Order: sequence, then C-alpha cells, then structure tokens
Amino acid sequence: MSFGKVARRLRRACGKIMTTMTGCVFCRIVGRQQPARVLYEDEFCVAFEDVNPRAPVHALVVPRKHIATLNDSRETDDPLLGRLLRVAARVAGDKGLSGFRTVINTNAEAGQTVYHLHVHVLGGRTMRWPPG
Ligand code: 5GP
Ligand code: ZN
Repeated sequence: MSFGKVARRLRRACGKIMTTMTGCVFCRIVGRQQPARVLYEDEFCVAFEDVNPRAPVHALVVPRKHIATLNDSRETDDPLLGRLLRVAARVAGDKGLSGFRTVINTNAEAGQTVYHLHVHVLGGRTMRWPPG
C-alpha cells in the first residue's frame, strides 16, 4: 500500500477517534445538543449562522451525516453534495442576496478548522478576488 494511502487511512481513523472522544461541534448542532441560529433544515442538511461572521451574511450549510472533509466524500454522496450547494443558494436568497460567495475549506492548508464538511455562504459586502 502506498504511503499516501496509509496516511489517508490514518487521518480518517484519527478524525473518527477525535470525533468520538471530543464530539463534533457540527454533529452536536445537527443533533440540537448545541444551540445555533438555524436558518434552514431538511432531511439531508442544516444551515445556520456562523458564530464568528466574516461578512454581514455568513451562514454554514452542513450535511446531517458526518463527513470530515470534501476528500472524505464518496461517489454515493454526489446527490448530498449537490444538495448542499442548492441549499447554500436558497439561504443566500432568503437573506436577500443575489450575489454571494460559497467556500469549502479542505484541510488545514486551506484554513479548515472544523472537520465536518461545510459550505460557507458569505455576502452583504464586496468580495475580493483572489481570496487570501
Ligand atoms: P472552517 O474554518 O473549518 O472552514 O470553518 C469553520 C467555521 O465554523 C468558522 O467560520 C467558525 O466561526 C464556525 N464555527 C466554529 N464553531 C462554531 C459553533 O460552535 N457554532 C457556529 N455557529 N459556528 C461555529
Ligand atoms: Zn460531525
């Protein structure tokens, strides 16, 4: 087995152990064990306000199912991934935004801090490009 494959398996296993040990903050929000300002929910996903907003509108859309990163999604998750984006657009529309930015940070290099897949929905101000 290649080093990369071993490393990926280890990372996934560690993520699962950490989630079991410490609990995943977004799983807790999805399970209503931790409060959040919920904007939308359905059987597949939940959208809520980011606790530390980086723009006048800053929401997060998360799957109910725990997926640590985009890299951990599988082909069978394709409909779910599509759903997350559709819900992101819906949440932006509900907030009165016609223009908005969607962001998925994957792993620490990209700034991911919560290891439960989420789509950021940012808007209400001018967005710079490229992002920092
Ligand atoms: P990341 O850095 O992983 O892409 O984004 C994680 C986001 O989750 C951050 O914007 C952070 O402010 C938000 N966040 C972290 N903990 C909580 C929490 O307990 N509640 C809510 N609503 N947002 C959180
Ligand atoms: Zn989780």
